[in-house]
Amino acid sequence: MDPHWDLIGNERAVRALQAGLAGGAANHAYLFAGPDGTGRAAAAKRLAQALNCTGAEPPCGECAPCRRIEGGIHADVQTLTIATDAEGAVRKAISVEQVREMEAAVALAPYEGRTRVVVIDPADAMSDGAQNAFLKTLEEPPPNAVFVLIAGNEERLLETVRSRCRRIEFRLVPASEIEAALVAQGVEGERARLLARLSGGRPGWALEAAASPRLLERRNESLGVARELPRLPLADRLDLAEKLSEAFKRDREPVMRQLDEWAGWWRDVLLAASGAGESIANVDETASLQADAGECDRAEVARFVQAIIDTRGYLAENVQSRIALDALMLAVPGRALSRARQL
Ligand SMILES: [Zn+2]
Repeated sequence: MDPHWDLIGNERAVRALQAGLAGGAANHAYLFAGPDGTGRAAAAKRLAQALNCTGAEPPCGECAPCRRIEGGIHADVQTLTIATDAEGAVRKAISVEQVREMEAAVALAPYEGRTRVVVIDPADAMSDGAQNAFLKTLEEPPPNAVFVLIAGNEERLLETVRSRCRRIEFRLVPASEIEAALVAQGVEGERARLLARLSGGRPGWALEAAASPRLLERRNESLGVARELPRLPLADRLDLAEKLSEAFKRDREPVMRQLDEWAGWWRDVLLAASGAGESIANVDETASLQADAGECDRAEVARFVQAIIDTRGYLAENVQSRIALDALMLAVPGRALSRARQL
């Protein structure tokens, strides 16, 4: 791996970007497709550095433009993301107005560098109106401007938008690569192994968890709730749905992450139940997983895992969060053993 790009995994994506840059035929728009935490935003930053670097081997990481881009203070590199409203709640989409504002800025020549770079993250959160407004710019891109669209659900982008972007795919990274990268950064071996397994192939999560113990604590709390769900009376589960729905309106990401962790737990329960213990992600919780596997009906658990994944999808598509979460609470598996005892 080229140390200048400094990404964990996804070497193919990096090589494709490097080849494009080396060829001199710069693309005006890229689509960085793939799951969260796989290095898409980091790669976008490297690309912006490479396009503005004044060092001998771009992106050198050392010159003033590289350092300013790394610090997020370069005038020609901006990220367009979902805004918050006056009450501090996160809006549902990137709006037409936001796209127009960005386009007005991009129409100007670069201020301090060679190339303006606009990262749209998450691009799949652009409303249809915003995408249509953006399409005009994509069709006639201003000189010295490069757009990077970051998307986990690229099918939510209009075909007309997608077809004008050079698609670079980012994939989940094998745990062994993430573990090696963490160790290389000084994370102690056992902890590196655990974080790499828990990351589910997302180096971004592993790095964040290595830097912030709070992330692992939150994950433990979240798994505690995931385990507790079958034991909670329906009224309590619906209370929980209400709380999650309120939290979701304030900030989506923690709720999405919690749903991922719930899905991860119950998927592991299925793996434990089917004797595929070596594939378990939550390796530090094997005993609890085995215990849960012995208490629940496999088919019900499988349906619940699917329900969690579906709920996540509905939330991403802006359905009413309360309705989606209430429905999820109705899909929580029962406890086969306790029911059997009651018979
Ligand atoms: Zn540089």
